[in-house]
Amino acid sequence: MAARTLRIGLIPGDGIGKEVIPAGRRILEALPASLGLKFEFVDLKAGFETFEQTGAALPDETVAILKNECDGALFGAVSSPSKAVKGYSSPIVALRKKLDLYANVRPVKSVMTAANPIDMVIVRENTEDLYVKEEKTYDTPEGKVAEAIKRISQRASSRIATIAGEIALRRQKIRESGAPSIHKEPLVTITHKSNVLSQTDGLFRSTAREALANPRFKDVGVEEQIVDSMVYKLFRQPEAYDVIVAPNLYGDILSDGAAALVGSLGLVPSANVGEGFAIGEPCHGSAPDIMGQGISNPIATLRSAALMLEFLNEEAAAAKIYAAVDANLEEGKLLSPDLGGTAKTEEVVQDILRRL
Ligand code: ATP
Ligand code: MG
Repeated sequence: MAARTLRIGLIPGDGIGKEVIPAGRRILEALPASLGLKFEFVDLKAGFETFEQTGAALPDETVAILKNECDGALFGAVSSPSKAVKGYSSPIVALRKKLDLYANVRPVKSVMTAANPIDMVIVRENTEDLYVKEEKTYDTPEGKVAEAIKRISQRASSRIATIAGEIALRRQKIRESGAPSIHKEPLVTITHKSNVLSQTDGLFRSTAREALANPRFKDVGVEEQIVDSMVYKLFRQPEAYDVIVAPNLYGDILSDGAAALVGSLGLVPSANVGEGFAIGEPCHGSAPDIMGQGISNPIATLRSAALMLEFLNEEAAAAKIYAAVDANLEEGKLLSPDLGGTAKTEEVVQDILRRL
């Protein structure tokens, strides 16, 4: 079988992004040749440092190369300046727009040997809802009033529910191949507040229901939950969730909240997904408090590399990375300081590479 070559853009960005993205590259390079995968890497610029050097946080060249030459990318982190800086805005937000990366996917998983193991993925719509940022403020006799538009479309709701269904099926396939899990059947939970917002969230809910009623999802269980009671259950009974699909704002809040269930931001990966393209991105930021010490946890990035591979249809390669990371965590001997250990980034990376 001819090897498939994947061209991956590497965007370390700022702070510990520069420490963890090279680890992501190394784990991809270390995948066994029997998987029939080859990688080519392109170093790309974005972030606050890039902005200070060039005046652009996201150079046009970075976007053009990602669009025209790459199959996927790994994005580290960008530091957010403490005060608004004229002309600077987040390059990852811009990238999601320019590449139409409409889904933000965040798996939250503990080791299966934990006392109360959890294994869920939050699928957040990434293009609309209150994030269309159409706000205005006006004066009234009683003082100022501010308003924001919440936009929900059938198209965006349908495609996010569809990808959630696909993720549920893929997770089931990975489970059936023998990966340990707490779930037996695929389940998608639609999250909304349609009891109050009957038109916007109502449209999200009915469209998601319709998309998931497609015969290809006949083996996927579908339930729905109002977002506030969902938060309660997420913290009381997180093991109940497999795939959660939500409009942008609820998804944003749920995914940060769920990340708190597994201990360290250094463990949680994400992917920004569009048609045939995915950017893996650790959930943490640039962590200026620990940068330069060689102690940042690389696992969020290694898992993000695996997640990117899942969306490029390389599930077997992804499963290898997940298993190597889980084995490191389960043994618990070489852990970085955020997990209570004393290992340096390099030691954690080497331990995981050895397990591949
Ligand atoms: P930014 O503005 O870039 O988001 P931040 O100050 O909010 O930076 P985060 O990166 O969001 O910092 O991290 C929050 C906390 O979690 C920090 O104390 C940081 O050290 C810790 N942390 C984040 N990522 C990691 C990691 N990979 N390994 C270890 N600790 C981490
Ligand atoms: Mg932060």
